[in-house]
Amino acid sequence: MRCQLCGQPLRSSWSLPELLNLRPLQPAALCQQCNATLQKIDQTNICADCGRSGGPSPCRDCQRWRKMGEEVLNHRAIYEYNAAMKDLIERYKGIGDYNLRHCFIKDVTSFADLHCTFVPLCSEPKHLQRRGFDPVLGIFATLDLQQWLQKADTALPQAKKNRLSRMLTPQSFSCVCSPVHMAKAQRVCLLDDLYTTGRTFHHAAAALRKAGYQGEIISRSLIR
Ligand SMILES: [Zn+2]
Ligand SMILES: [Zn+2]
Repeated sequence: MRCQLCGQPLRSSWSLPELLNLRPLQPAALCQQCNATLQKIDQTNICADCGRSGGPSPCRDCQRWRKMGEEVLNHRAIYEYNAAMKDLIERYKGIGDYNLRHCFIKDVTSFADLHCTFVPLCSEPKHLQRRGFDPVLGIFATLDLQQWLQKADTALPQAKKNRLSRMLTPQSFSCVCSPVHMAKAQRVCLLDDLYTTGRTFHHAAAALRKAGYQGEIISRSLIR
């Protein structure tokens, strides 16, 4: 195996909890040097609502979501969106290096402990056609994903918008799952690669509610 980012050979090493776990062992995808450029969020000091560094009281964005009557999603993310992560995501989503989906396989597999029904926030058709792959389905492929949500094409991708226009983006998700089927799931976890303003996650949650889902909804992303 070689490091997915720099290409140098990898030596596999597993921790005791990983060896004792019943799940298949996941080899590392990044070398120590590349791994050290990515910064994990300190989970002891985060906004209780969205998982952003610097809590524990709700951050200004989350106070606004609460005022707008949007539900609290108990969002958590693993990594900060630092320069190295921005480069990696540009290579993955922008240039289309699909192999990079393996970089986070260990992190993503740990989400299985949440024991939720995992609902990914899928790409809009235009983006899927252009890239030839769905970056979110790629990253979270080791989880049992339920594609309950569909996204319609939007005029401008979120990445090309400023903060205000992100917040004003109209709803583009619709739920394609029946209420009877959804009722079997006590807890849903929405999944996306990146949490920026929370607009996308709150739209996704609202689409599930509109379709009649009454259970608990939480959310997770790789990056915040
Ligand atoms: Zn490397
Ligand atoms: Zn927050």
